[in-house]
Amino acid sequence: MQILVLNTGSSSVKYQIVDPERATALLEGQLERVGEAQSHLEAFEQVAGAARKHELTAVGHRVVHGGERFSAPALIDDSVIAAIEACVPLAPLHNPSNLAGIRAARRLWPGLPQVAVFDTAFHAKLPRRARTYAIPPALAAEHGIRRYGFHGTSHAYVAERAARALERPLGELRLVTLHLGNGASACAVEYGHSTETSMGMTPLEGLVMGTRAGDLDPGAVLALLRSGLDVDAVDRILNHESGLAGLGGVGMDLRDIEARAAEGDDRCRLAISVFSHRVKKYVGAYAATMGGLDAIVLTGGIGENSVSMRRRILQRLDFLGLSFDEDRNRSVRLDSTTDVARVSRDASRVAALVVNTNEERMIALETAAIVAERTRVDNPAPIPIAVSARHVHLDAETFAKLFGPSATPTHYRDLSQPGQFACEEQVSLIGPRGRLERVRFLGPFRSANQVEISRTDEFLLGVDAPVRDSGKTRGSAPVTLEGPAGTVRLSEGLICAKRHIHMTPADAAAYHVSDGDEVEVAISGGPRELVFGGVLIRVSPNYRLEMHIDTDEGNAAELDRGAEGALVYTPATSGATASLRARRRTPE
Ligand code: ADP
Repeated sequence: MQILVLNTGSSSVKYQIVDPERATALLEGQLERVGEAQSHLEAFEQVAGAARKHELTAVGHRVVHGGERFSAPALIDDSVIAAIEACVPLAPLHNPSNLAGIRAARRLWPGLPQVAVFDTAFHAKLPRRARTYAIPPALAAEHGIRRYGFHGTSHAYVAERAARALERPLGELRLVTLHLGNGASACAVEYGHSTETSMGMTPLEGLVMGTRAGDLDPGAVLALLRSGLDVDAVDRILNHESGLAGLGGVGMDLRDIEARAAEGDDRCRLAISVFSHRVKKYVGAYAATMGGLDAIVLTGGIGENSVSMRRRILQRLDFLGLSFDEDRNRSVRLDSTTDVARVSRDASRVAALVVNTNEERMIALETAAIVAERTRVDNPAPIPIAVSARHVHLDAETFAKLFGPSATPTHYRDLSQPGQFACEEQVSLIGPRGRLERVRFLGPFRSANQVEISRTDEFLLGVDAPVRDSGKTRGSAPVTLEGPAGTVRLSEGLICAKRHIHMTPADAAAYHVSDGDEVEVAISGGPRELVFGGVLIRVSPNYRLEMHIDTDEGNAAELDRGAEGALVYTPATSGATASLRARRRTPE
């Protein structure tokens, strides 16, 4: 799958073509001076030219502000566009260009699904205590004044990545994620959810940034306004003339500041220590609000690259349980193959990790997931379910031993799969612990014997049968068959059939699955709803659409005759998004 990821700013367009399964982009580029020299549509025509060799599946757009409406990515239609438009007052600098990008992309790629992925979405369910500012509620409601938080795509991505590196479920971890780039923010990721974050109603609050002040006494803003500066001037000062550049010197970023500080420049030394002090303050605060801490995760240009800033932030946190490892810190090298490094000691109770963030890949993953979801919505056709009672498939030789040399199978009734039929002939199964009588033979003859039973049957027989795909009987369990004319001891052939769906190639195309995929199927509407995972897709032109489960599985879902299931998951996305999705499903 190839996703075009667009990050449309007011004057530039960054684009990547991403295969969500891969860490590095297939194509990337940036167009400058968009909006002045050329329209977004003209700019995207250049992107389309560059992308012409790629078969795109969808377009994913980074959208800065999703307000209260979006707690997840959204498939773009007119109503989504209107809702993004409604958030313009909250992000007057960003949402209009994001929208211009969406409109141009819809004109240029009308056949592709377009998905909006919001910087705010990960924080949309911040607890009330964290999102509320202590001002009169009516005023807050009228002006949309609350904490929204930003950089959500990056915080969610690095949290997920860190959990994988720690080999722990994200849902069990309390993390502080620190996105330290030109924009910078901290996030308390508590058991998978953002419960605090340092950017607020706008991206101006919180940490010291490249040119933004971060936290500031609102009284200071009032003082500036009262001093005679107008609103735009104060806006410019706080957003563009403050932060590291404000403290260190115009046009300087952390690299310049570190170089000057090393030469003894006191302004630059102060800039660095204000920056690191602020970050450390938030780490402590979030450990406190979460009631504990399992790991600190650093990312962004500064988090990924500045050895000395990492040291300043992470040193002297031993009281929190973090044992910082300076040797590891100095040897961090992140690239396309190594995207995570540990900078805490092995024995440290709290881990510290540096993770290479990849917002484009996250946007591609989210976009792919939405497209897969849409595929589901477009294909609601239910799947008929058949409960298979225990049965045997036999080769001709074994049949003759059991039923006599001159016996032939007697047709009893046709089965749903073309050419398959149940017969009058029945055998007994004999195991070390017990017997099962009247187990039906299903024709036609096969090249190998196969006996399919349920887990309950296993228990009665006293054997352990492996769960197997039909036909894969090598090394399966032994069983003895007894027929009217003789007894046959099979050294293998006894299995618990893996639940599966038979379908034609046309069905497979309609459900967007392939032979060998494993999917989830939901049984709903009955007395006991159930989702079966690990359902194997089996495709052949000779099949008829039907899901097969055994009697235990049927009983667990209290299935009646004529029951149907619905495909709930097409395996089009990789781990990160799948687990994010699962997380979103958990009730608040
Ligand atoms: P953006 O938020 O624009 O994506 P980045 O994540 O690229 O920004 O971060 C840019 C910041 O990272 C700048 O302050 C830059 O100085 C800093 N940075 C990048 N590389 C280094 C480095 N090797 N040492 C120190 N700081 C660095």
